Formats: sequence, C-alpha cells, structure tokens
Amino acid sequence: MRTIYLDNNATTQIADEVREAMMPFLTDLWGNPSSMHTFGGQVKKYVEIAREQVAALIGANDPQEITFTSCGSESNNLAIRGGAEAMDKPPHIITSKVEHAAVSGPCHYLEDRGFRLTKLDVDEKGRLDLDVLRREVKTGKTLTSIMWANNETGVIFPVGLIGEIVHEFGGIFHADAVQAVGKIPMKVSELPIDLLSLSGHKIHAPKGIGALYIRRGTQVKPLILGGHQERGRRAGTENVPYIVGLGVACNLAKKNMEEENTRVKALRDRLEKGILETCSGSHVNGDLTCRLPNTTNISFDYIEGEAILLMLDDRGICASTGSACASGSLEPSHVLRAMHVAGVSVHGSIRFSLSKYNTEEDVDAVLTELPKVVKRLRELSPFVA
Ligand code: PLP
Repeated sequence: MRTIYLDNNATTQIADEVREAMMPFLTDLWGNPSSMHTFGGQVKKYVEIAREQVAALIGANDPQEITFTSCGSESNNLAIRGGAEAMDKPPHIITSKVEHAAVSGPCHYLEDRGFRLTKLDVDEKGRLDLDVLRREVKTGKTLTSIMWANNETGVIFPVGLIGEIVHEFGGIFHADAVQAVGKIPMKVSELPIDLLSLSGHKIHAPKGIGALYIRRGTQVKPLILGGHQERGRRAGTENVPYIVGLGVACNLAKKNMEEENTRVKALRDRLEKGILETCSGSHVNGDLTCRLPNTTNISFDYIEGEAILLMLDDRGICASTGSACASGSLEPSHVLRAMHVAGVSVHGSIRFSLSKYNTEEDVDAVLTELPKVVKRLRELSPFVA
C-alpha cells in the first residue's frame, strides 16, 4: 500500500540533496571543528557556510546571530529561559494560549520559579487581540513569546506588530517560527524580533537539529554549560553532519519557496474544498485569510478525530489530530479549546499538512477515502439521529 503523507507539520521527509550533502561528514570528514589541526579545522568552514545559509533564509544580517541547537524545543527553551534569566530584573512572561508545548513548557517552568506569567486569549479564528497584548506589556519589562504560525491551524500571527508593541515598552520579543520558516518569506533583520526559533525536521532536514536567531545585542544565558562552542551560547561539540544538512535545507527552501508554496497551496485548497463539498458537517478551523499555505484543520461534527485517523491510517493516509489520548480520556486540542470551537466539533478535528512531495494523486486518494470514512463513522455515532 502506498503511503500518503499529509502530516508535514509533525515532520518532513529528508530531501535527497540534504542527505547527500551530509554524507561526507558521516564518512570521511569526521573531524572536530574546534581542533587546531587541519583535519578537524577543515570541517569548521562547512559549519560556517551552514550558518550563512540559515541566516539567509530568515533574512538575518549577520550569520553570527545564528546559534545551532538540537531542535526547535531547545531553541525555545534557550530563548525563554535563557532570555528571561539574562534580564536585569525577572521579566513578566507573556505568551498565548495556543503555543506549542515547547513554549508553554519553559514559560510554566519560569512561573514555578516566581516569574509572573500571562497567557493571552485568542478569538474564535485563533487571532490575538493586540489591545490586550498592549495592556499587558505596559505593566513593566516583559519577555513575550508568541508563535509566528500555529502548528495545528496554520494561523499566522502579526509578529511585526506584536514586536513593535513589545519594544515600545522595553520588552524582548521571541517568535517561535518553527512552522513558519521555509513556508513564508521573512526578513528578521527588518522586524522587531529579538529571538527566533527554527527546526530542521520541519523543512526537510533531519530530526535533531535546530537554530536560534539571537539579534546582536540581545543577552541570553546558556542552558548547556561547558566548552565555548557557539560563542559560549551552547556548549557541546557541533553536530556537523546535521548542521550541514540544515544549511542545505535552508538553501533549498529559500531557492524554491515561492514556486513550491504556490503549488502546495493549490493542492491544499483543492483538498479543503473537496472535503467541505463531500463531507457533510465539516468546517475549517482558524483564520482562512492569514494561514500557512500547507495547512488545513477541519472539524467533522459528531465524530471522533482519532477514529477518522485510524480509518485513514488503514488506507495508508497519514494525518493528525490535535487531540491527545491520555490515560484513557480523550483530551481535546488546547488550541481549538482556546478558540472556543463548539463541543460537537472540537473532538472531530483533523489536521492535514502538505509538503512539496505531495501530488494531485495524494489529494484524490483522500477525497475518495475520507467521505466513506466520515459516512461510516456518522452511521456508528450515538450522537447522530
Ligand atoms: N514549535 C512549534 C510551533 C512546533 O510545531 C514544534 C514541533 O512540532 C516545535 C516548536 C518543536 O520543535 P522540535 O520538534 O524540533 O523540538
């Protein structure tokens, strides 16, 4: 059975170009970039090329503003914990109710240690109220962490406006751009963003590599102490093959973003339209006007998202749901709950997230199978008359 992979916000296929670029560093070029000798030292220049490639994709002025990490979660932890702990006085931490756990986790960690934490509401389309943000940042120095794009709905946040408000009152702004990087063009040097997280495995590099943009002049305390790698911001011998892979993935994303996103968006729109037309009681969650080009989050009223997923899985189709099945109870997505999605819809939501590797045939397969799955589950649902 062919696998139809529509879960690219969870992780992506490694691009051939990325894998090929990494191979020499897993075979012959295995030296330590910090070594004095030529054998190790020759590797260092490839780390620096990758740093330039990452900086170029996000539009940073200076490659030295890029610190390599092990993943998006580490980047977020370094930004939030490291950023807060480097400020003169413990800042007021501001975030939203729809963040990934890799942001809410470090925010709660700081709250447990006495920092004041405010989590902002979103409206029914998943958007922030900027007047409420302004009211909160006025209260003193803040470290504000808001995602650039939501992983479940694809809703894009106005990071330029958010950063302006935060800066007006002397705060620091961190953007979790793990889902936005490579999907929308960005020039961080021209935006009021101090810290920005990204992750390799969302853009066709391997899992286990990420980066944090730290604007020149922004202070961050390292989380990992030891050697002086990454200008003292993250100790540990550099993961050279993965760093090289991330660089190449960034380069590919920059080169092909416009063309690929136009194609991916057309596929996403055809999938979404087809689902809404063929599955009764279905509707899209989130702000349709300001969304990532690859993501759609659709609720199917009165049925369970997990049941849909399992039946799609039987047919070789991979998608995901925001719900987590924890200790026998089905917890609905915190993102959809924050958006006040109705009870009959919140349990039946499915996220389809596409990539450049998807095809028209993938969309056709979902449009053939999904209506049958939904119809069958509706017949079994005790909630439908
Ligand atoms: N932030 C967002 C918005 C994400 O979607 C994810 C992963 O899904 C992360 C952070 C964590 O990234 P990583 O898996 O690289 O730790």
